[in-house]
Amino acid sequence: MNILPTQEWGLGLGPITHISGPCSAETPEQVMETCTQLSQYPVDILRAGIWKPRTRPNSFEGVGSIGLKWLKDAGKATGKPVCAEVANVKHVYEALRSGIDIMWIGARTTTNPFAVQEIADALQGVDVPVMVKNPVNPDLKLWIGAIERIYNAGIRKIAAIHRGFSTYDQTRYRNMPQWEIPIELKQQLPDIQVICDPSHICGNRELLARVAQKAYDLNFDGLMIESHINPDKALSDAKQQVTPQRLGEILAGLKRRKPNPDSPQLETRLEVLREMIDDIDHKLIQTLGERMKIARQIGQYKRENNISILQSSRWRELLVDRLAQARQYELSDDIMKYIFQMVHKESIRHQTVVMNMPEEKEKLEG
Ligand code: PEP
Ligand code: MN
Repeated sequence: MNILPTQEWGLGLGPITHISGPCSAETPEQVMETCTQLSQYPVDILRAGIWKPRTRPNSFEGVGSIGLKWLKDAGKATGKPVCAEVANVKHVYEALRSGIDIMWIGARTTTNPFAVQEIADALQGVDVPVMVKNPVNPDLKLWIGAIERIYNAGIRKIAAIHRGFSTYDQTRYRNMPQWEIPIELKQQLPDIQVICDPSHICGNRELLARVAQKAYDLNFDGLMIESHINPDKALSDAKQQVTPQRLGEILAGLKRRKPNPDSPQLETRLEVLREMIDDIDHKLIQTLGERMKIARQIGQYKRENNISILQSSRWRELLVDRLAQARQYELSDDIMKYIFQMVHKESIRHQTVVMNMPEEKEKLEG
């Protein structure tokens, strides 16, 4: 594949691309004001969602085509290229007619090869850059497939956007970053630039700077971060949007580390593995928390039925079962026995609290 980097898109972009703007265009004033403020900071491309793919109907589904004009006007006023999401052929035609400089394919669309192919067919013979978000599910082939469909339509100005992957588990992220996937994408398509979208990974403001820094540390080629003049009042993704000023602070606070020239791959690998360990630890704690919640329910049940807390036969059986399972993962009997003794101790503590001091239960659950 011969994919052109952002510097060769003819839009005056450098090797690192910062994209920002509201999740959704809401009013002409909101788009213009957000974009004007953003232009004071190192933002290279302005964004706004025009048609919004919402999980459930009756949420705000975007202002529609009229928003394209508001966005383009903001681009003209600030001298910056603008980008919008397209999810079907009609969107493509309307975006082209409005002079939108860059289109992106959203995560839900990337999951559907029929939809991507229709968009690719509509783009045949058109010279417009396209950014392809990862599919909602962690499927690298599907992501590459979408990029190939756009490429096969003759488009060479392509970038990828990493916005994290959906999971049913409750995690600290809205969408798990699974950094190993975009890194593998880079391995397989070395020409493609990958831009990280911390907003949709985090789903909140608090983690944005950390995820953006991680993307820098892993040598991503840019960031897409949502911003709004009044984030709390945003009609979509309110929790994750920041003011343009806050975006400026986040960008100013990022450190660009020089990759170790002797071992850039090694460092990246190490970063990814560490992030995976962090995620697993987070899940371990969460799982323990859930286990204790059930222990409290057991405590409640025992209390109501006047059953004693400690039942040694159950505990012995449990230990035998857990150690046998642990052996399959080459975990040592001694260490596992110790860990389970500690887990059991903590369970007993939770049960005791519920049995002796029901009012304490409220505190624990709160
Ligand atoms: C968005 O960028 O506003 C959006 C809808 O993103 P995603 O497709 O990543 O969910
Ligand atoms: Mn959004």
